[in-house]
Amino acid sequence: MTDFSVFTAPGIDALRPYVPGKPIEELERELGLSGTIKLASNENPLGPSPLGREAAAAVMADINLYPDDSGFRLKGKLAEKTGLDTEQIVLGAGSSDVIDLVARTFLAPGRNAVFSQYSFAMYPIYTTAAGAECRVAEALPPDHPQMPYGHDLEAMAALVDENTRVVFIANPNNPTGTWLKKDALHDFLRRLPGETLVVLDEAYTEYVSEADFPDGREWLGEFPNLIITRTFSKIYGLAGLRVGYGMGDAGLIGLISRVRHPFNVSLPALAAAEAALDDEDFLRLSRENNDQGLKQLAAGFEALELAHIPSVGNFITVELRRNGGEIYQKLLENGVIVRPVANYGLPTHLRVTVGRPEENRRFLQVLEQVLPS
Ligand SMILES: *Cc1c(COP(=O)(O)O)cnc(C)c1O
Repeated sequence: MTDFSVFTAPGIDALRPYVPGKPIEELERELGLSGTIKLASNENPLGPSPLGREAAAAVMADINLYPDDSGFRLKGKLAEKTGLDTEQIVLGAGSSDVIDLVARTFLAPGRNAVFSQYSFAMYPIYTTAAGAECRVAEALPPDHPQMPYGHDLEAMAALVDENTRVVFIANPNNPTGTWLKKDALHDFLRRLPGETLVVLDEAYTEYVSEADFPDGREWLGEFPNLIITRTFSKIYGLAGLRVGYGMGDAGLIGLISRVRHPFNVSLPALAAAEAALDDEDFLRLSRENNDQGLKQLAAGFEALELAHIPSVGNFITVELRRNGGEIYQKLLENGVIVRPVANYGLPTHLRVTVGRPEENRRFLQVLEQVLPS
């Protein structure tokens, strides 16, 4: 047998595949359960945007045709809503596709990317796949008064050198739910060398209502090295269709677009995303459900005398003070899927996506049952 690992491009052999949340169907098949709830992948518990869903259904008769490769209508609507030019927008099969495009355009052996400890698991995968070095800045300590486990911008800036082509920042961050304030992030961008790109990953931004939370789009004029990514997978409820987008300087977006696969966003995905952008009712309901769910879960953890990381995302990460993997298993056996985060360096935590009120309640009940007393 040939050992192909010796023939891989630099870094590939050392990669560990991304571990997704367990699908409901798979768990039910394995354990013979039914009525399982999944709070594992930060999906919208209210389902898809109704307007998006209808629009996708309406184009199903045409799926013999390739989608519009230019994404004319969706980009047009995004441009209209953001005040950007359509040339400043690139579409992706999810925003992770866009993040990968940036990595493939700008990272290579001899270059490096900087990101924080406890940040999104795809950053090291895309960086390594591009043959570049990962530079991981230590996060703020667990006992930090404002932002335990948060990004330490000083530590990140200290890792940037002349070979740093990309800094990845998730705001709010997954899996911690921590976030960066406007002034701090703006200062960081001002201090960064112009040839270092910043990918500001705003996958959860629509959930956040904090007054000093930044909208990166306001800075695109000031920082040509800034790229914002957003997604339809989270609040819009379209994770299964795979559609997201990046925004930035037109020249930069043009370069990134050169490595994009043709037709990377499917016909139903384009149609659904365009319609979902106008689904104000659904967005409002999703936000309300999330605000209440975060409170419900935080209160539940407190009642169980468990600490959690303060979160502004659609998920919350709880500290169990014991092996998270074991509790995860026991929750699974009781039909509740959450997310272990040992692979993020958090072996005693679990990440829970905010569900509907009855799902949150069920999760808290089962958690109480399976915690050793
Ligand atoms: C979910 C998520 C994304 C986007 O995922 P896509 O489905 O590919 O759009 C990007 N960044 C972070 C931090 C996420 O948690």
